[in-house]
Amino acid sequence: MNPIPEQKIHDTLANANLQLAIYDATARLMHKRRTALDNPLAADFEAWREQANRIKRHTIENLDHYLEQLEQNLVHNGGKVIWARDATEAADFILKLAKDNNALRLVKSKSMTTEEIDLNERLEHHRLDVVETDLGEYILQLAHQRPYHIVAPALHMTRYQVADIFTERLGVAREVVIEKQTMIARAKLREKFLTADIGITGANFLIADSGAVVVVENEGNARLSSSAPRIQIAVAGLEKLIPRAQDLAIFLKILGRSATGQPLTVYTSFLAGPRRAGEIDGPEQFYLVLVDNGRTRVLADRDKRQALYCIRCGACLNHCPVYRKIGGHNYPWVYSGPIGAILSPLFHGVTEDPWLPSASSLCGACGEVCPVKIEIPKILLELRNDVVKAKQREGSGKLERWAFRIWAFFMRHPKLYEMAGMAAPAILPEASGGAWIQSVALPLRIGPLARWLSQRDLPPPAARSFRQQWRERRRQA
Ligand code: SF4
Repeated sequence: MNPIPEQKIHDTLANANLQLAIYDATARLMHKRRTALDNPLAADFEAWREQANRIKRHTIENLDHYLEQLEQNLVHNGGKVIWARDATEAADFILKLAKDNNALRLVKSKSMTTEEIDLNERLEHHRLDVVETDLGEYILQLAHQRPYHIVAPALHMTRYQVADIFTERLGVAREVVIEKQTMIARAKLREKFLTADIGITGANFLIADSGAVVVVENEGNARLSSSAPRIQIAVAGLEKLIPRAQDLAIFLKILGRSATGQPLTVYTSFLAGPRRAGEIDGPEQFYLVLVDNGRTRVLADRDKRQALYCIRCGACLNHCPVYRKIGGHNYPWVYSGPIGAILSPLFHGVTEDPWLPSASSLCGACGEVCPVKIEIPKILLELRNDVVKAKQREGSGKLERWAFRIWAFFMRHPKLYEMAGMAAPAILPEASGGAWIQSVALPLRIGPLARWLSQRDLPPPAARSFRQQWRERRRQA
């Protein structure tokens, strides 16, 4: 069981520049989304959400059928499907493929699934040169950090920090103009694209009826990663499936708008196997690594399997008051924000980070903006319930259980409840300043409730209970 990273969270909250960077960037993304949805072209957005939800539900409930169909069509196109049960199997396959083909350099486009399985670390451990080619990911790779956000991985960095990283890691003169920083990265990355043996992409969607991998992006780096090297690998979670190519129209419309406020992202690439006879570009070998890594366990949970509908748009992060304060690096896994607070416990078990489902105000904003209508607040509540049950099984959380039992007893016996309310002011010591615990109940502040009470207090019991006051008013009326 991992403890809550209190010190790291305090440091984030105390860092005014970081707070401003997170707040500004998420506010910009929210504003862009809102503007995109206010456009008459998006008048049917709610209907698109409904349809996307229906398609995802149908696909996830028939995943075995569509996975087989995808494999058949992809093999028919000349590609190969690799089924990886976990991170090790996925990385082992890529490593062996690189060795068998004497590959030394791999270029990668942004992929949360490869982050999830620590692919870079595993390949670098075997002295392979792995280069991130998405600008944000490239900056983070140079800085040895993991993504801060699903869509905008370097959202927390200022251009001044990027200038320092480029100077230190690339040996270039300090440059703080963003366009010029982009040109520096572009020049460095061009050379990598041209000399890479293997290109790795993620997948936004896998289309069962055509055996195609669909990658959407804004920089063109995924397109270069998938066309320049002689070997192409797409790494994707099982849940990225959609049944038909025509379903894609809905998902492209909701993804760009929810993520960055774009009606469509700049590039949409369909990767459907290796180069065919007569074609002048494209890879000689094409592989799709389908990663389970806990997904089938989530699939088995009828109530929570809808978490697999996620299309990684990042909208729930931008709208989450908790993410906007604590940022992306205080979540225990690569997935942060509300979707991270449900994916991490679903993949790793609720006992690993039991505090995570409670890292939410349950304001409901995440569920309202989710383009595939995942009921995030409902799943968070169910996970909280699972945490309590797990604690009961372990025999911990006894104090909390007793407190609620006593509370429940009084709630079920209204007369006793009323008598306790009338007796409280006489029994309990008087408080000052409107805060009962801070002023009189000192033992509670140093006991097992100390952490809970450090951020909260109770008002002193009223001299006359609500019921007494209510009866008096009724009599006077
Ligand atoms: S849960 Fe919904 S809003 Fe959050 S990233 Fe996934 S699709 Fe987007």
